[in-house]
Amino acid sequence: MKASFYNIYTKNKKNILCYNTKNDVFCLLTPKDYELLRNAPAQLVQESPRVYAKLQELRFVVEDDADEYKELCDEYRAAIYNPAVCYLTLLPSLDCNLRCWYCFEKHVKGSHLTPENAQAILTYVRRLWDEHPELTFLNVEMFGGEPLLYFREELYPLLEQIQREAEERGRKASFFFVTNGVCITPDTLPLFDKLHASFQISIDGFKDRHDQVKYLPDTHEGTYDGMIATILRLTRELENTYINLRINYDDETLPHMKDLIQDLLEVDRRKIGVHLERVWQTGNFINYDNEELKSVINLWMLNGFRVSYMNLGRRSFSCKASARNQAVISYDGAVYKCSGRDFTPAHQEGRLSADGCLHWEEEKLARRMSIVTYDNDMCRRCKLMPLCWGPCCQKQLEAAPEEFGRFCQKQHMELSMADYMRYRFNNACIEDSLRKS
Ligand code: SF4
Ligand code: SF4
Repeated sequence: MKASFYNIYTKNKKNILCYNTKNDVFCLLTPKDYELLRNAPAQLVQESPRVYAKLQELRFVVEDDADEYKELCDEYRAAIYNPAVCYLTLLPSLDCNLRCWYCFEKHVKGSHLTPENAQAILTYVRRLWDEHPELTFLNVEMFGGEPLLYFREELYPLLEQIQREAEERGRKASFFFVTNGVCITPDTLPLFDKLHASFQISIDGFKDRHDQVKYLPDTHEGTYDGMIATILRLTRELENTYINLRINYDDETLPHMKDLIQDLLEVDRRKIGVHLERVWQTGNFINYDNEELKSVINLWMLNGFRVSYMNLGRRSFSCKASARNQAVISYDGAVYKCSGRDFTPAHQEGRLSADGCLHWEEEKLARRMSIVTYDNDMCRRCKLMPLCWGPCCQKQLEAAPEEFGRFCQKQHMELSMADYMRYRFNNACIEDSLRKS
């Protein structure tokens, strides 16, 4: 037996914290057991048989001939060609009610889902189910623009129909909204409840900063208070919801984070998670040992919130745009794979026709699907590969292999690996206690 290649170790007080990124598990080892695991696993069987058995069960130690990298390659292939799951992103409008300065999108004023295009999407979904009996799970994400601009009159009837027809066929459909939250009014809550909706809501730190970034263009009224009230209402009144609260931070917002935590103290922690994301335009002089960020992460966790930092959750591919059963369908029938670029003709990769058929530009699709995102010298030997899977397919389409280094997540992490591991360990403990509560 040998120690797994995907073990990462760091000191934790008197013990050694070990994280296996492939199986997403932690353990604490005494210094002696740690030395044996690294240098003489066979001796560990003799000296600490119970520890060894546990390490073997959780695959911190693997068979001598285990090919963990190949296991990951198989996992990736199975996931991107998984016939049981379809990832569908809808862009019901490319207009927005706010104008955040960092938004990359070109807005299309007044754009919205016509009845004809809503019907084409519904027909497409029916075709998916009828032509792919193995498809059991349809994951529908709403993005934009602001996807809730015409929620009650245009989007909800379509989603409700998709939900009803999924149930009739014994399939599952889930609905996730990436929104600024402004259109979630009290009268819409029963509709979201019926959809068992989940959300990503963005916040720009404390009230003053948020109101400077996210305000109504006509009145200049800030949206912070309304958003906090919405989050409280959603978590109180929706039985099956989950909110990913995306906090866009920069160096000035971090010291004020306690004000935001204070405003969210009443929230049911089981229904919310906090994700910290630096506003990318402010990341030119990244501090790789950012004490302020470390204390902010700790403060959220001390208050019982689960926290995600960096795009390193355990999953089976880098981005769902790599998956074959995935499409981004815009309000006008234009189809894309990537939702991280402008929705303009240059990035379009297909079209949805009125009869619900999706016509891909086969050459573009084949080029994207040929990219195995981690298959390069940098990622093949990286212990974080099972969490990251390399630069996404869009970045690899746009850059030469020698440039991939600048996309590496380790280059953008503002914590040392030791601090990152300790944060992940503490967060896993919070996740565990929330699951049990
Ligand atoms: S930019 Fe990359 S990570 Fe973002 S949606 Fe596009 S493919 Fe995915
Ligand atoms: S991009 Fe960087 S962190 Fe991600 S797998 Fe490759 S080397 Fe590792």
